[in-house]
Amino acid sequence: MNAARLFERLLRYIACDSESGDEGAFCTLLEAELRCLKLPVFRDGAGVLCGSNGGNLYASLPGVGEPILFCAHMDTVSPGKGIYPVLDEDRVLYSGGDTILGADDKSGIAAVMEMLETLLESGLCHRPIEVLFTICEENGLRGARHADYSRLRSRQAVVLDSGRPHVIINRTPIHESWHVRISGKSAHAGVAPEKGIHALKAAAAAVAEIPCGRVDEATMMNVGSFLSPGSTNLVPAEANFDLEIRSHEEARVQYWSNEIASALERACVSMGAHHTVTKERHTGLLYVPEDSKLIRDLVDAYRELGLEAVLARGFGGSDASLLFSHGIEAVNIGTGMRNIHSLEESIPMSDLERVTKLIFKLVQTG
Ligand SMILES: [Zn+2]
Repeated sequence: MNAARLFERLLRYIACDSESGDEGAFCTLLEAELRCLKLPVFRDGAGVLCGSNGGNLYASLPGVGEPILFCAHMDTVSPGKGIYPVLDEDRVLYSGGDTILGADDKSGIAAVMEMLETLLESGLCHRPIEVLFTICEENGLRGARHADYSRLRSRQAVVLDSGRPHVIINRTPIHESWHVRISGKSAHAGVAPEKGIHALKAAAAAVAEIPCGRVDEATMMNVGSFLSPGSTNLVPAEANFDLEIRSHEEARVQYWSNEIASALERACVSMGAHHTVTKERHTGLLYVPEDSKLIRDLVDAYRELGLEAVLARGFGGSDASLLFSHGIEAVNIGTGMRNIHSLEESIPMSDLERVTKLIFKLVQTG
């Protein structure tokens, strides 16, 4: 691992704007760098399906033993244009302007690219390596959703897309969102209010009964986007709201789904309203057992660097969930990025150097 080259690399990637949907230029840059390393590269057609001028990138490097996949995302959140990074005296890289830094997830990509280049220079024996760089992760994991999984041979993956160094996220939740529509009946509020069915009040009664926040040890819920267009001289005929459930246990999703359904039923019956629900499951449960080969190898690699790895569960989504749903054991490891999705985003270079060394160790054989 060449620390100066890693730093230059991260700066080069950050300088190439790639907000979600606009990853085209960054895709081209990475394609060129992967080709320079003489790796076969493929860009898929997911951009069309995701509304992006880029595509997911796949690359591979032959080796010996079980293949392993490294995954990171190319897109950033906004504001991510014209980023001006600044390095402080402690070698922490900050955004110096009014943008995010883009360490999420260019730090992950930089670590993987630097690991590949170091490996090729070293001539050391290593496992077969596959790389997947995705688009549109930040707006619903859409790149990974439309990735071509038939191109991937690996049954183990390391996603580099979280913050805390030496933390391995091996559990992420089921994430489901609901759109609720409550229908009542319109009537003139001043002339014949008794002829109306107040959809907004029914919706409000239902929302009041739906708990939000950390509703049990494994589950978070939230309600948002409450809308009931109209004017005060009309009894509202319709109200809508959205909610989400994130849980580490399928049984808890079922329990809370039943609770919400009952709350909706009670509120609607009391007002004479009706309701419809549209559900979407964004991600299923991800759980890689603590004693899996992937985790044992990772823990050993951290230990060789003098670090004790910590296993953790996350509540946020990442491409790891989609890899997992396609039969690939995937964990998400920290690169050191902090305060992501904010103007205060930063990353200590020492953390990024360490994670680069870690994945370099992880792929070595013998
Ligand atoms: Zn990310």
